[in-house]
Amino acid sequence: MTRQLPDRRFLGDLRRLLPQERVVTAAPTLAALSRDQTEMLEPGSALAAAFPVSTEEVAALQRCASEHRVPVVPRGAGTGLAGGATAVDGCLILSLMRMDRIIEIDREDLVAVVQPGVINATLAGAVARAGLFYPPDPSSFEISSIGGNLATNAGGLRCVKYGVTREATLGLEIVLADGAVLRTGHRSVKGVAGYDLTALFVGSEGTLGVITEATLRLRTAPPPPGTLLASFRSLPYAAQATARITAAGAAPSVLELIDRTTIRAIEDWQHLGLDTNAAAILIARSDTPDYGRSELDLVAVACREAGAVDILRATDEFESEGLMAARRAALPALERLGMTLLEDVAVPRGRVVDLVAAVEEIAERHAMTIGTFGHVGDGNLHPTFVMPRGDPDARSRAALAAEELLRTTLDLGGTLTGEHGIGLLKRHLLGEELGSVGLQASRAIKQALDPLGILNPGKVLAPDS
Ligand SMILES: Cc1cc2nc3c(=O)[nH]c(=O)nc-3n(C[C@H](O)[C@H](O)[C@H](O)COP(=O)(O)OP(=O)(O)OC[C@H]3O[C@@H](n4cnc5c(N)ncnc54)[C@H](O)[C@@H]3O)c2cc1C
Repeated sequence: MTRQLPDRRFLGDLRRLLPQERVVTAAPTLAALSRDQTEMLEPGSALAAAFPVSTEEVAALQRCASEHRVPVVPRGAGTGLAGGATAVDGCLILSLMRMDRIIEIDREDLVAVVQPGVINATLAGAVARAGLFYPPDPSSFEISSIGGNLATNAGGLRCVKYGVTREATLGLEIVLADGAVLRTGHRSVKGVAGYDLTALFVGSEGTLGVITEATLRLRTAPPPPGTLLASFRSLPYAAQATARITAAGAAPSVLELIDRTTIRAIEDWQHLGLDTNAAAILIARSDTPDYGRSELDLVAVACREAGAVDILRATDEFESEGLMAARRAALPALERLGMTLLEDVAVPRGRVVDLVAAVEEIAERHAMTIGTFGHVGDGNLHPTFVMPRGDPDARSRAALAAEELLRTTLDLGGTLTGEHGIGLLKRHLLGEELGSVGLQASRAIKQALDPLGILNPGKVLAPDS
């Protein structure tokens, strides 16, 4: 009640800044814009959503929000899996999706300059048409935005060879909480002037500033990849194979794992001919010359030595893409089985075997269905808890089991999140990974850049942690 008058004043000011059609207060639209793909979280009630088309408009909106002390939740395509774009009570949802221009692709400097609302696949396609390559490829590449990829430091399938989004980022334009515009980084290949602010903002989940432009590092296009699929009768064997592949000196451009629960979910849905008796499959790709022939030979030997019972080599590009489609179908296939809680744990490569054993043990002890898949070459897996919809008891058990898995991951020298971020979902555990000094330093950075605490409040850092 007490907020009504200030809220009305804020909305009045907002409507003076943007044309009517780019400020939305209709409840159904706000409800749709208040969630990301994290099913377990309930969003707060947003005040309005704004759709700026320029940096100047974002800056004006931030100044207005600062003046009225209104929280701002930046939003890309809403495909996040940690609740980073989940609305908080009384917030302005700041959608960056209308800032969707590819400003430049430069073949000499090997850079692309883009606005945040460009979809990853749109950029990758435009870059490929110019004969170049933009490596970061989250499985959501067809639906997630570059702004969201930057804000979460997204990983992806090719990141095992080419690095995650941060490694592909040379510079950023950022609107700070008070509306000031900051430019970070450089366009040159090298550059070490001052603190690495670019690296700080990549992965900051919309809590330190709003990304309004990015200068991204491109590469010359590698040769077309070849693909191999290896089936195993035991999940730990598949995990061991990844260590052998690395030890053999192979550097595949993709190295992914899918376990039996996930294979069966994919088969039930897509009928791709995957071996449903396999305990796990590994999918490896190589983009070295001749469809990666000699590198995939090394991978095949390593897999056989680790106990692979079957190895399939894609004979053409169509078959190759089919195998990749199987991997990309993993999450949607599990989502068809019920409500999901998708984890994103990452451990040093040498501890992957322990991690998959822990997942199997936790699934059994809690009587939970867990489908595991992910970027095993990076040590980054997505054990996905599947529960019947509308079963609060299963939900609480899953939350408990997931927390156990996260603590086990930390004990294995790993991290709570390899690529999806902390968001709302894991903020209560962040201190266990960072330690009190790490948490204090993070709070100091947040306080320095957003003293009023209006940028995506409560995300990453819990209010009372
Ligand atoms: C099927 C599926 C597969 C996926 N596979 C992967 C994968 O392989 N690898 C991976 O890393 N992730 C994956 N994800 C998760 C998700 O797609 C990524 O986190 C993605 O980077 C989010 O982009 P988005 O545009 O949807 O951002 P949103 O979900 O809208 O936002 C994500 C976070 O970024 C912030 N944000 C968004 N835009 C900006 C901006 N311009 N400035 C500041 N902050 C901003 C938001 O506040 C929020 O904290 C997957 C998701 C799905 C549904």
